[in-house]
Amino acid sequence: MIGTWDLGGKSAIVTGAGSGIGAAIAHRLVTAGANVVLADIDAERTGVVAADCDGAGSATATRLDVSDAEAVKDLVANVAADHGAVDMLFNNAGIGVGGETEKLSLADWNRVMDVNLRGVVHGIAAAYPLMVKQGRGHIVNTASLAGLLPAGLLTVYSMTKHAVVGLSLSLRIEAAAKGVKVLVVCPAAVETAILDGEGVGGFDVRRYVTTDQGVKTAMSPDSLAAEILEAMRKNKAILVTPRTARLAWITNRLSPSLGMLAGARVVRSQRQYLAG
Ligand code: NAD
Repeated sequence: MIGTWDLGGKSAIVTGAGSGIGAAIAHRLVTAGANVVLADIDAERTGVVAADCDGAGSATATRLDVSDAEAVKDLVANVAADHGAVDMLFNNAGIGVGGETEKLSLADWNRVMDVNLRGVVHGIAAAYPLMVKQGRGHIVNTASLAGLLPAGLLTVYSMTKHAVVGLSLSLRIEAAAKGVKVLVVCPAAVETAILDGEGVGGFDVRRYVTTDQGVKTAMSPDSLAAEILEAMRKNKAILVTPRTARLAWITNRLSPSLGMLAGARVVRSQRQYLAG
């Protein structure tokens, strides 16, 4: 049952834990008894989130830039030394830069790849060999519904999230025999700060993932965090949520051309909005 999973004594690292989905995951883990390191590029905000975590476990905030491979490696080593193991790693930090792709600079492309893709790679490169040695561990990567479907105007973001899905599913089948579990999380719109975030040429992220995609309300980070813990407990490979996202995913698998048409409609809707 959601919320009653006992994670007493387990250690966890959550990246991007200073806000939104990562903060909600950290809250849920501490409630379930885990000792959680909340790692985020924004140390101040993460300190506030950690202080607010309440439960049988513990919460420690640390500054981490996931695009810095050495820093990620050091953090994983420190957590292993302090807690005797790294039981769970949540590669969750992410950024989005939306808009017409010809308006993005190469620096924009690289920034999104450095955080959304290399950030996940750095986490896995540091923690997976350790988990193999431990004979246990759980890696949870936050991708997106945009990692399963085409998402024009979020093209670079979508590229990184498709890569995270492929990485997660491939690693999962390889890691199973070594006692390491892998889950990839693919939500549609979630009510977090990312919805009010970056775009070029007036691109409106919130409008794109709600009105343009035909979603009435973004789901709450806390309900997503509860679903993530439940999917981990059941050792699921992939979590696609909510139900409308699962329907879109299934439709796209049954008919990729229908998926392309639906994606093109979303792009048209945003362009009409931008044209006023
Ligand atoms: P958010 O902006 O609320 O949180 C993202 C956190 O990541 C922030 O605290 C930010 O400081 C941190 N971060 C950014 N760059 C970092 C870096 N280099 N190193 C460490 N931390 C860094 O957004 P969120 O919605 O909670 O995003 C979490 C994850 O969920 C992201 O990977 C995002 O792509 C994914 N996601 C979000 C939605 C949504 O609608 N909110 C949907 C699908 C997937």
